[in-house]
Amino acid sequence: MKLNQFYNDLKDSYLFHTVAVRTAEYAAKNPGKKIIKLGIGDVTLPLPAVCVKAMKAACDEQLTKEGFVGYGPYEGFEFLRNAISAYYGSRGTKIKASEIFVSDGAKSDIGNILDLFDRDNAVLVPDPVYPVYVDTNVMCGRKIIYANGNEDNGFLPAPDPSVKADLIYICSPNNPTGAAYDKKGLEAWVKYALDVGALILYDAAYEAFITKDLPRSVYEIDGARGCAIEFCSFSKNAGFTGERCAWCVLPDELVFEGKKLSSMWLRRQSTRYNGAPYVIQRGAAAALTEEGLLQIKKNLDYYKENAKIIGGCLDRLGIYYTGGVNSPYIWLKCPDGLGSWEFFDLLLDKCQVVGTPGEGFGECGKGFFRLTSFGSHENTLEAVGRIEEAFR
Ligand SMILES: *Cc1c(COP(=O)(O)O)cnc(C)c1O
Repeated sequence: MKLNQFYNDLKDSYLFHTVAVRTAEYAAKNPGKKIIKLGIGDVTLPLPAVCVKAMKAACDEQLTKEGFVGYGPYEGFEFLRNAISAYYGSRGTKIKASEIFVSDGAKSDIGNILDLFDRDNAVLVPDPVYPVYVDTNVMCGRKIIYANGNEDNGFLPAPDPSVKADLIYICSPNNPTGAAYDKKGLEAWVKYALDVGALILYDAAYEAFITKDLPRSVYEIDGARGCAIEFCSFSKNAGFTGERCAWCVLPDELVFEGKKLSSMWLRRQSTRYNGAPYVIQRGAAAALTEEGLLQIKKNLDYYKENAKIIGGCLDRLGIYYTGGVNSPYIWLKCPDGLGSWEFFDLLLDKCQVVGTPGEGFGECGKGFFRLTSFGSHENTLEAVGRIEEAFR
């Protein structure tokens, strides 16, 4: 028996562990001090009531012979695929229910989709980045090229025609930078992908946070149906991080080497997966009803208000940042040329505020720092007050 040697190429992820250890050490040394965590990477508000009601009803159905549901379709129940199709339709984006594949998470889909592609493909990943894109490719031995995000491009790298990529990851609005592409920015990527015959893996997990007139789906761009798979999730919009429900879109036009990608994906899913739970899919469908969308909006508005509070503070301090508008994330440049970890310690020591050092998300994150809007209003206001006092 031999092990997969590519696991040796994975970098150990000490980021959140180190943050937790340093915070605990500080708390032990400073018992009276109230620490505020603005590093939270998970939703915190309770689920929309319509979703819980729908899940309870679906549970009760399971007590009856008529209502009992066993294995469901691999690609998700019709009722949810139709609801997702209508969700796109309400924004003027036409996606057929048959092009939608429901699952237990965008994270799993993003990793699992790699089963469809040859190991020799060149992978283009933005830096800084959601670690899943990198690690899932390292695990199967793929070489990775980085597209650097920085202050000059506002952490929205554009395609470089001299780079030859086969698989391209785009996350917009981005985690960790909060930056979101406008139509022109995405058009450039779609054109590049079509020119070189590449496939875009588009992560739209934060589309619901978009307030400005920016694309919420890659399919708002002409030609994207022929070169992009979109991943989306109920995690960040409906707060389903614990429930687990997501979807991906594989349009009919995605045909490579005479093969339809959606057929390959269904073949893959039906071999290795037995579908997301019925009860959870009922809850997810409820999130997309008129009432559900209103309740989702209320929660998102709460987070967005926090983001605005943090952004306003950085504006007044003259600190450069991205995000905060169409995203729960605020990505700031550490003041006075400090390194990510130096700023982490300083912020903890001076303000008792915890965030996430940017360099944990890649080389280009050095000297940057991520704050999130998933805390409470009260804590966010208090943290911002302390930061303004300390860095004035
Ligand atoms: C949270 C998140 C997701 C959602 O993942 P799920 O597995 O559906 O919970 C996807 N992409 C990014 C960048 C995220 O931050």
